[in-house]
Amino acid sequence: MYVYADNAATTAMSPAALAATIAAMQECYGNPSSLHSIGQEAAEKLEAARATMAAGINAQPREIYFTSGGSEADNQAIFSAALLGKKKGKMHIITTSIEHHAVLHTLKRLEKEGWEITLLPVDKDGMISAQQVADAIREDTCLVTIMFANNEIGTIQPVAEIGAICREKGVLFHCDAVQAAGHLPIDVEAMQIDMLSLAAHKFHGPKGVGLLYVRKGIILHNLIEGGAQERGKRAGTEYLPGIIGMAAAFQDCLEHMEESTAYVQKLRDKLIQGLSGIPHSILNGHPEKRLPGNVNMCFEGIEGESLLLWLDQNGIAASSGSACTSGSLDPSHVLLALGRPHEVAHGSLRLTLSEYNTEEEVDHIIATVPKVVEYLRGISPVWEKLEKGELPHVI
Ligand SMILES: *Cc1c(COP(=O)(O)O)cnc(C)c1O
Repeated sequence: MYVYADNAATTAMSPAALAATIAAMQECYGNPSSLHSIGQEAAEKLEAARATMAAGINAQPREIYFTSGGSEADNQAIFSAALLGKKKGKMHIITTSIEHHAVLHTLKRLEKEGWEITLLPVDKDGMISAQQVADAIREDTCLVTIMFANNEIGTIQPVAEIGAICREKGVLFHCDAVQAAGHLPIDVEAMQIDMLSLAAHKFHGPKGVGLLYVRKGIILHNLIEGGAQERGKRAGTEYLPGIIGMAAAFQDCLEHMEESTAYVQKLRDKLIQGLSGIPHSILNGHPEKRLPGNVNMCFEGIEGESLLLWLDQNGIAASSGSACTSGSLDPSHVLLALGRPHEVAHGSLRLTLSEYNTEEEVDHIIATVPKVVEYLRGISPVWEKLEKGELPHVI
């Protein structure tokens, strides 16, 4: 048995998305900018996909700009709001300490160029409150950018409350909804979101495609100059098969959201329950307000990387944090923000489930993880010290 439990990193494509993508590659090869009928057929398909995506978040089709994925959408939203702010002499941006690097690194670049960034701290469960946002907004704030749900610990933020505060104070609100899209209901009107990023490959669509929703009236900055595609705001021939595949995947998610959520949440809770007996372990993230498929735990006395390699050998694909940080040896900025000490943050494990996982697979994880943790502790010098009382247990 091999269990894929890394759905926050990326997902397998749904049969509907796969069929739509392949069909578009085979049959719909025209360039939507071409005036002949093959091009116009492609343009119609492009606009149909745009309408599907817009309807799924309660936006207008003209407010949707297709991108290469979540990172590009985050970059374009933040640079646009920053430049709009600069024109008005407003160069202060508010975010949280647990955002994705596509947001944090973009803000770091702006900071070097003169913008001031406020990083809101999160509580022990990774939550921020609308009050924190209200207190941080100043006369010169041009943007609040806060994620819908965290990719590492799954915590879901009070997005509608934050949206209401931003609207009341006249500050743009961008929401990185890459982890939420397709899994949680999103309504940009009710939640008063001005800009929103999502990516197809996190909800069983193809990789390399996503979108930025931008409320009508907000002027976008171009990251890529060239042709007049995407209302002149994102040049380059559209990745039409990907866009069509994304719309098919999203439609499929929307139609089955309630039952998928119930099913995945049940698996998640069983998994949390099954692993909670491991001594000196702790669940990271909010106990209830978390993504349906997210489990994230720390185990004292072990290295997350060794755990991952041993789990892979035992038929489980997991992650120690975000795929983007796993190349480096720094512990996760998200776990540190929760107040986990460095050595505890190093022993983290993220298991993220989807509707394609089964109860048998969860049973396999529950049977395997405790054994591997015990084995790794058995060969860990740090664990030996903890057991002898030479080091204090922190969790
Ligand atoms: C995956 C992810 C991104 C990046 O999306 P890509 O499509 O891989 O560029 C951004 N934000 C969050 C929260 C994510 O989970």
